[in-house]
Amino acid sequence: MVVAHQPVMVDEVIRYLITTPDGIYVDGTVGTGGHSLEIGKRIAPKGELICLDVDRSSIRLAGKRLSAFGDKVKIIKESYLDLDEVLKGIGIDEVNGILLDLGVSSYQLESSGRGFSFLKDEPLDMRMDQDRNITARELVNNSSMESLQGLLWNYAEERWAKLIARAIVEERRTEPITSTRQLALLIETAIPAKYHPRKRHPATKTFQALRIAVNSELQDLADFLEKVPQLLVRGGRLVVISYHSLEDRLVKQAVHRWERGEMYPRKLPVFPEARPLLMKALRKTGLRPCQDEVDLNPRSRSAMMRVAERI
Ligand code: SAH
Repeated sequence: MVVAHQPVMVDEVIRYLITTPDGIYVDGTVGTGGHSLEIGKRIAPKGELICLDVDRSSIRLAGKRLSAFGDKVKIIKESYLDLDEVLKGIGIDEVNGILLDLGVSSYQLESSGRGFSFLKDEPLDMRMDQDRNITARELVNNSSMESLQGLLWNYAEERWAKLIARAIVEERRTEPITSTRQLALLIETAIPAKYHPRKRHPATKTFQALRIAVNSELQDLADFLEKVPQLLVRGGRLVVISYHSLEDRLVKQAVHRWERGEMYPRKLPVFPEARPLLMKALRKTGLRPCQDEVDLNPRSRSAMMRVAERI
């Protein structure tokens, strides 16, 4: 059975993203189309919605769910990182709103069979884009102990990084690490039981770090943010929902740089007071889902939404 993904903070996304029903909007991470279904309903027949994702099977599911919108919605298998090229290819210079809903979908966690979840026993793959990137299996079996430790620390702030890296290297001496269960068990054993986190599985952070590394998630987000101001019309909005502090930090820092006029145009004017303010945060702090939503949809628990406007 395919698990439907419950979109996060839908009302807030709609409220901030859509400034005119005739506009052109981008859902950079369409997944199985939860947000896009709602966006599609709220834009006029003259409006347009361009949906991207790197996951072929998610794209297929989104295509089915969004087919009723006809030509108003385009679904393209590309990374949001290449949004500038995608838009150029279809003759669009600027858009009215861009949504990124980062992280992993319930579909990927529960039905893709690609090893995103430590609660299942699946091959260790973790690629969102199966046409590129190396698998988590390759990463785990071929990286040095030092780089595994660095990866766990840098991408998940895992305090047991050293112990886990050592346990991985020891295990693979006898047999390769090929499944999620094998990896999850090994981590459970490596971290002393009295230090197991109370509310989450001891392997949570390791799985997060591997997924980020396999899909180059932080690098892609950082590179994409550099391009955003050029892609929005004045008054156009960027809405980003992130699920851990490393992602959120990148978004927050980008907004600060835009507010100081540091990122675009690349050549700064000579006088600091003449620097254009290019994007501004629409809200000073990030937005979190309300308690009712968290109760209904546990995946929204860690969500943090930031909104910026091109000025
Ligand atoms: N908002 C969606 C769920 C998004 S989950 C919904 O309501 O259904 C995050 C999605 O981002 C996943 O489907 C994942 O494949 C996709 N993704 C990850 N990295 C991406 C990238 N660089 N470009 C496009 N999509 C990406």
